[in-house]
Amino acid sequence: MADVAGVVSRSHDLDETLNNVVDLVAKKLDADVCSVYLTDVDLQHLTLRATRGLAREAIGTVRLGFDQGLVGLAAEQRAPVAIEHAREHPRFLYFPETGEERYESLMAAPLVVRGVTIGVLVVQTERPRRFEQADVDLLQTCAQLIAPVVLNARLLDLVSRTEAERARIVSKLAVSGVPVQREQPVEVARRTLELRGIATSPGIAIGPVYRLEDPVDLSKVSYEPSPDPEQERRDLLRALAEARSELDDVRLEVAERFGPEFAAVFNTHIQILEDKGFVGRLERSIEQTGDALRTLRDVLEAYRATFERIEDPFFRERGLDVEDVGRRVMARLLGVRHRNVPLAPGSIVVTDAILPAHFALLETDKLAAIVAEHGGATAHGAIFARSLEIPAVTGVQGLLEAVRPGELAIVDGASGRVYLSPDEVLRAEYASAQQRYAIAVEHLDALRDRPAETRDGRRILLTANVGLLHDLRLIERHGAEGIGLFRTELLALAHRGFPEEAEQERLYERVARAMAPRPVTIRTLDLGGDKAVPFLGVEGEENPQLGWRSVRLMLSHEGPFRAQLRAILRASTERNVRLLIPLVSSVEELEAVQRLLAEVKQELAEARVPFDEALPVGIMIEVPSAALIADALAARCDFFSVGTNDLTQYTLAVDRGNERVAHLFEPLHPAVLALIDRARRAAERADIPISVCGEMASNPLAVPLLVGLGIGELSGSPSAVPVVKEIVRALDAGEVTEDARRALTAGTAGEVRAIAAARLRAAGLLDHPDVGGWLRSVLA
Ligand code: PEP
Ligand code: MG
Repeated sequence: MADVAGVVSRSHDLDETLNNVVDLVAKKLDADVCSVYLTDVDLQHLTLRATRGLAREAIGTVRLGFDQGLVGLAAEQRAPVAIEHAREHPRFLYFPETGEERYESLMAAPLVVRGVTIGVLVVQTERPRRFEQADVDLLQTCAQLIAPVVLNARLLDLVSRTEAERARIVSKLAVSGVPVQREQPVEVARRTLELRGIATSPGIAIGPVYRLEDPVDLSKVSYEPSPDPEQERRDLLRALAEARSELDDVRLEVAERFGPEFAAVFNTHIQILEDKGFVGRLERSIEQTGDALRTLRDVLEAYRATFERIEDPFFRERGLDVEDVGRRVMARLLGVRHRNVPLAPGSIVVTDAILPAHFALLETDKLAAIVAEHGGATAHGAIFARSLEIPAVTGVQGLLEAVRPGELAIVDGASGRVYLSPDEVLRAEYASAQQRYAIAVEHLDALRDRPAETRDGRRILLTANVGLLHDLRLIERHGAEGIGLFRTELLALAHRGFPEEAEQERLYERVARAMAPRPVTIRTLDLGGDKAVPFLGVEGEENPQLGWRSVRLMLSHEGPFRAQLRAILRASTERNVRLLIPLVSSVEELEAVQRLLAEVKQELAEARVPFDEALPVGIMIEVPSAALIADALAARCDFFSVGTNDLTQYTLAVDRGNERVAHLFEPLHPAVLALIDRARRAAERADIPISVCGEMASNPLAVPLLVGLGIGELSGSPSAVPVVKEIVRALDAGEVTEDARRALTAGTAGEVRAIAAARLRAAGLLDHPDVGGWLRSVLA
């Protein structure tokens, strides 16, 4: 399959790509014919666009409706067809211009994007052939691989259909004349400036500041064109070539680190830059204007306006890709540093807020730390920073105003301190603290094979929360016993859309295989809230955290939800996968998911696709209502996982991502503990396991209380596993059960904290050579 993916990822001309694909697929499936039909603009008819084996003259002339022929059948049903004796089929339709009466068997797979058929991939054989399920799967995967390329080519093509409108809109273009910010030279020395924020992800970093700019506003760029039009033309072409090679580098890097799925967005961008229509339009325009910037802006505006007129939000948002590409080229043209430009190794990224999408788009290996003016420690971006072990501080007031690009900074993620232009003494102090931290981490990792067992023998399962393939390395390094929460949103964020089923399946399968026989808990898409994706139209909600997010959103996008359930089921053959449903707030919601799942299982069974029929289905307890009706929910599922980030947010009415109320975000509040306890008791009555997978599971103060409440599995960031293990090993289950009982009767979080702190102290943990220092700083 890698060869088909390779052809597709190098696509810069649709016809050439399709010709390569039909050749390759014919060979792989040992078929006499392979053809691609693409839908017309009406989305109701198909026209032959590329073929190997049929008469060449038929290309562009053979046209059939969705209600005609076997190819139409695949398009209509949005499902593959495989027919041994095609001519005997009632839907068989004969096109003399193709000479296809010679062919006996036919297999067709539709190219589907978000439930819309945009084409069909077909193979035919002269001799009768009964196609195997593996053949159907292969064809379908090829179809899914080429669908995005076809879609993008289609969208880019739309522009040429609306010349008149384009001209009108371009003429409206106003240049405000606000100059764009150019790359700042490294700043001159100044006195050390200390800023304080929220300790978000532990670790120490010392490095140069990289200011993540807001995207360049295309309409506000000023530029003095050269009087020589030829020079302008050369500059534009150079900018295009540079942007192209920059994208290649980023794509390679992202694909290597996170897997090719995450690089998909860059394929799209490269496809735009190589699109003949796009480049041709730029060339024609520069001839006329002799002004590189104006040309770029005019052409981009034409595309933007075209996309804007599309009603479907998904297709409309594809315009963002053209805009992104345009910014990149413009940045090269102006010599402005692009936000996705390769970072210098060891950079400290300074931004307005840490967003999950940063981790899909930035080269995280080169990130020494992230500091943000806004946001709290449990915002999703912060969670991803922690899971990637990138030190982070959020909610740093005055940061953006104070910071100068290129200056040296120190970030202390454990205390929430940030120093700009630190003096020599401070630098030396932090360099040695950094070293001590690294040694402690190494010591703890060396003990990774010891069990997480209390002094009196209670075994606690220590799993980890991950969201990227890259995290699997950390799981091994820190000795986690499985994945307690696999967040699937990053794939959607990298794609800016629901990921394709085949891509999801590949990712989940790789994770499940790599971890087997250890458990892998895959959570269905938890988008919305602070993980907004533009294409879904969830933006602009007044209360996004209470709005159309998570399982609610998925239940109203049944097609993509089914696709994800199918992908998870297909990846479950190792029998180590568990399915987790987020944000369940009622029995009806759980039942709706169970119904969908049962249907999807039946479909797979009928198609003889293997999967784990006993796949455990669990729900997250992260809405107070779920904890309050836990008995009813426990009777209908196989396990509970408490999401304390949201449970705290919803119980205390404190936005988890708002730094102004971060001091009120308190998972050790007795009300939160009471809800966890209630869920735990319901789980015990129903005899199902219960875990905690929110950030609380790796909060040292919370660990004794969670163990005391009887939680059997704690899932936190991989790097927290060794510390949590040391804590568990120092505890006595009997003693912490008593602590938990007292904590449940406490009136304030302060009392709860005092109970937990006393236990850590009594267990001798504050004097522990590796974790003691850190625990003392947590208690301070
Ligand atoms: C939670 O809410 O605690 C949780 C684990 O889910 P997320 O942080 O992804 O919302
Ligand atoms: Mg949650």
